[in-house]
Amino acid sequence: MSELSFAQLGVSEPLCRALAAENYTHPTPIQAQAIPLLLQGRDLLGIAQTGTGKTAAFALPILQKLGKPQQPVSPKACHALVLAPTRELAVQIAESFATYGRHSGLRQTVILGGVGQPQQIKAMSRGVDILVATPGRLLDLINQRHVRLDEVRYFVLDEADRMLDMGFIRDVRRIVAMLPKKRQSLLFSATMPNDVAHLAAEMLHQPVRVEVTPEQITVDRVEQRVFHVETAQKRALLVDLLKDPALSRVMVFTRTKNHANRVSDHLDRSGISADAIHGNKSQNARQRALERFRSGEARVLVATDIAARGIDVDGVSHVINFELPNEPESYVHRIGRTARAGAEGIALSFCDASERGFLRDIEKLTKRQLTVVGERPASMHTPQAKKEARQPDPSVYKRKRPFHRGRNKNNRSRQAA
Ligand code: AMP
Repeated sequence: MSELSFAQLGVSEPLCRALAAENYTHPTPIQAQAIPLLLQGRDLLGIAQTGTGKTAAFALPILQKLGKPQQPVSPKACHALVLAPTRELAVQIAESFATYGRHSGLRQTVILGGVGQPQQIKAMSRGVDILVATPGRLLDLINQRHVRLDEVRYFVLDEADRMLDMGFIRDVRRIVAMLPKKRQSLLFSATMPNDVAHLAAEMLHQPVRVEVTPEQITVDRVEQRVFHVETAQKRALLVDLLKDPALSRVMVFTRTKNHANRVSDHLDRSGISADAIHGNKSQNARQRALERFRSGEARVLVATDIAARGIDVDGVSHVINFELPNEPESYVHRIGRTARAGAEGIALSFCDASERGFLRDIEKLTKRQLTVVGERPASMHTPQAKKEARQPDPSVYKRKRPFHRGRNKNNRSRQAA
């Protein structure tokens, strides 16, 4: 957290009042860096993931600038456009704008797929100050002439790397091409693959770069432990761990939608309130699951990486990686659900024999070793490992017969063969 106050960053009084009501006492590092530059009108390239406070970092300057007297917005148009890759993230961003901007009297709406169009068309009919949208549905409505982008003055592309992963980058390019040339643009991304770097170069004008590295978040605030466990024992371990009431609000991650359903069903059968959230669920079901988790009605939310990306729930006590992700960056995103904006959190990972390589990749990326809890690696118990364990420990051998090193070495290589 920064020593400065929001007012010292230049944030206006009505916004500061809304922040105080949310108990935001000090800006997070990305807010402290980005807000003054954005208020000056600079374009920005933000390397930051969810959990850093990046939403307020872009929402506050936009709200402040839109709060000044200006041309009224035309029907079907908007002054600020925020693009997000997932429906959940879009809803959350819109909620943040509503929360921070509660004293501003600005009009806003959200356009996303998976729900009916008529309400969104109606909301756009008079025009809005702020529009938060997912790319596919936005393009549909533009093509049907229910939305126009020629009055956009502030444009935010959030989670650009996830847009790329989800195959939205062409849609994003088409949308960017429709925006007026004179505008302030912001691009946020947790990672910077080449395609995102190219997009940033096309989209931003002499941007300032603000970076909050994932390592900082991972290393600084999340306690990370790993359990080496056989695949078949993972469910029992999960139920066992959840006997501890300290695991009060828990996000469990699986690699596939099927596994998310199965783990959630297993928890329910074991008397632990859980919901699953993934791409096969309807928008309403996903929203309901999120609400139940937020309110504490469900203690556990089981999620896949894509569905969970950007989900913002305060007070997640533990993240459990029921399965390790095959991309180490996803691990960083996952554990970012706990330890949000200054809080401390705990991440527990279940690693079976097939996942050791993923664990190594994670430790390489985060530049730290996870603390091993409980059992030794399961591979130690395989017949081959047991055979190896029965063979003499070379270091002991060496100590006992210091004068025959050469022979010992040969013995060892024969044993290994
Ligand atoms: P974000 O990275 O935008 O998804 O924000 C992560 C979480 O941090 C959200 O729950 C915000 O409500 C919270 N948050 C953002 N900024 C602050 C702040 N300055 N102080 C306390 N909490 C904050």
